[in-house]
Amino acid sequence: MSVNISDIFGANVFSMSVMRERLPKKAYAEVVDVMEHGGNISMATADIVANAMKDWAMEKGATHYTHWFQPLTGVTAEKHDSFLTAPSDSKALLQLTGKQLIMGEPDASSFPSGGLRSTHYARGYTAWDMTSPAFVKEMSCGTILCIPTIFVSYNGEALDKKTPLLRSMEAINTQALRILRLFGNTQATKVTPLVGAEQEYFLVDREKYLKRRDLIYTGRTLFGAPAPKGQELEDQYFGVIRERVGAFMSDLNQELWKLGIPATTQHNEVAPAQHELAPIYTTCNLAVDQNQLTMETMKRVATRHGLVCLLHEKPYAGVNGSGKHNNWSLGTDMGENLLDPGETPNENLQFLLVLACIMKAVDVHADLLRCSASNAGNEHRLGAQEAPPAIISIFLGDQLDNVVSQIISNADSIKLLTTGKLDSGVSTVPVIKKDATDRNRTSPFAFTGNKFEFRMVGSSDSIADANTTLNAIVAEAFCEAADRLEQAQDFYTACNELIHDLMTRHQRIIFNGNGYSEQWVREAQRRGLPNLPSMVDAIPALTTEKAEALFTRFGIYTKSELESRAEIMYETYAKVLKIEAQTMIHMAGKHYIPAAIHFCTRLGQSIASITAAACDADVSVQKTLLARCSALLSSTSKALDTLKVLLPQVDSMTDVAAMAMLYRTRIVPAMTALRQPVDELELLVDKDIWPVHTYGDLMFEV
Ligand code: ADP
Ligand code: MG
Repeated sequence: MSVNISDIFGANVFSMSVMRERLPKKAYAEVVDVMEHGGNISMATADIVANAMKDWAMEKGATHYTHWFQPLTGVTAEKHDSFLTAPSDSKALLQLTGKQLIMGEPDASSFPSGGLRSTHYARGYTAWDMTSPAFVKEMSCGTILCIPTIFVSYNGEALDKKTPLLRSMEAINTQALRILRLFGNTQATKVTPLVGAEQEYFLVDREKYLKRRDLIYTGRTLFGAPAPKGQELEDQYFGVIRERVGAFMSDLNQELWKLGIPATTQHNEVAPAQHELAPIYTTCNLAVDQNQLTMETMKRVATRHGLVCLLHEKPYAGVNGSGKHNNWSLGTDMGENLLDPGETPNENLQFLLVLACIMKAVDVHADLLRCSASNAGNEHRLGAQEAPPAIISIFLGDQLDNVVSQIISNADSIKLLTTGKLDSGVSTVPVIKKDATDRNRTSPFAFTGNKFEFRMVGSSDSIADANTTLNAIVAEAFCEAADRLEQAQDFYTACNELIHDLMTRHQRIIFNGNGYSEQWVREAQRRGLPNLPSMVDAIPALTTEKAEALFTRFGIYTKSELESRAEIMYETYAKVLKIEAQTMIHMAGKHYIPAAIHFCTRLGQSIASITAAACDADVSVQKTLLARCSALLSSTSKALDTLKVLLPQVDSMTDVAAMAMLYRTRIVPAMTALRQPVDELELLVDKDIWPVHTYGDLMFEV
């Protein structure tokens, strides 16, 4: 089927051009003004916009509208209301008022607030975020007009991920403009963080998925022996896309394009049944919204194809997990990218100052960045056997690294490493110019030409926290640089001094080597860089004096907002682990132990009947197998009992931080101890008795 992208792209978005077409000139101008400069839209204009939005959505088949927001659950929330107002004389009167557009009041008591609001003070408000366009979503329950909103409490405290993100964008805008002014740029009026999030995911056959309680309840397998084949042949990555997966991707792209999401890159990832989708980058808050919508759409479209999309960071042990590379740069409204070094970064003072500030930001707030990429699923990637490591460092590549070294050593004139030509030795292939640097896949924060790629974020996570943190820490570094340089007598001398100073003080954050190696862990420790292998170790970063000073200074989080977020993170970690432990208890007790008993009984009966029939027959194989399976059965049962006893003890703790820590130190090992004998049994027990699909079935039969 041929598709014309331009016909469908953005068809379901109430975009600027739709508004220009449908709104009276004056109303449109007011909307644009508020979007660009902030402030409040008049109620009269809100009524006009709401009505136009409703008419447009109804032409698309919409029956309901919703305020679409991103509470601290990490997923999006919506409550649909129809356009119906009090029907009279059995006639439907349909409307959307300005008030309904601008504000909503969902009952906030059932969303996590981390103690910001006691349950009996349930008021929470959603307020229209005009900077992200409304859209219609086609779902089985109907076509819904979605109005992106922020979600705040009665006292204005953020109850969502979007509010702090928008605040952080304002902070970096203000501070980056100060830097630009110092360099004589009087034209730019806005600096915006630009973000492109590469999304990794797994697909699994829906029928098989439905037979695995662990996948259903937790999104990952809690048991499972390795399949005979994993990713060792490296034949999956960029491999030919299978028909069924291809049909899913094609359908997904079209759905995303309709929503105005510029999905562009698709390929098979390293692990079997693992794939990636990347959109073209856009404004930070829009990228956050679009990534949420992408994840949601992936799940919905997968169902249509008899598949399930697994967004968990580690659906299967032993093969690669999934992450989300968060590409980040800073663009002005004049089209300049502050992270573009140009052809001669050695002479680009503004770029070098920006780079020095980012080095400082990442070094000083490495703990916060680590924390911003923490969720329970990501525990299995960061700080585990897998990349990127939990230690934050920056990869600059040879050329920039060399420039930084020259600056630090006070070189008289800073030279550029010459980039060579790439000659493949094949005479019919043109000789091409090499990139200035090679790539480093093991770095959590890598410079990739004109942007930084923060690779720690988990595949299921919202990218809001990571970007809020990035914007905030870089805003702080810019602010401190501007404070100093604005006072300088001789700007260029002061600027050179500052760059030298910052690069020297923060050079420890630069690491170009192999981030997966043991040596790096030791080297990082020597350098004094934080290594926070678990999110439970990382959460305290949110409530340090340093964090409080940073976030309150720019009005991004208040102290109580930070405390509430830390609380929610502990709580969520504990809850996720509790569900996982309970699921293991269920599966071990209801599936695996009965299957193993059945197998052992069958073996025993077979030994008895063979022995009775022919007393000299050799039954040693059966006996050895029976002995081994019985021993594993007994280990399983013991480990199950231990977990059953431990779980209520840990779960009864009242202090959430202490509880989370105990989940990590006591429950996680108890879960590992239960998994181990079961996985071994899987390799011994008949496939027709084994109660669930194996890794081979799940990963290779998509
Ligand atoms: P790479 O090969 O370095 O991973 P790609 O060109 O594949 O880079 O881009 C990866 C993601 O980064 C895409 O989503 C892309 O749109 C985004 N991206 C590219 N340039 C920028 C930029 N200046 N700022 C933010 N994101 C960007
Ligand atoms: Mg990339």
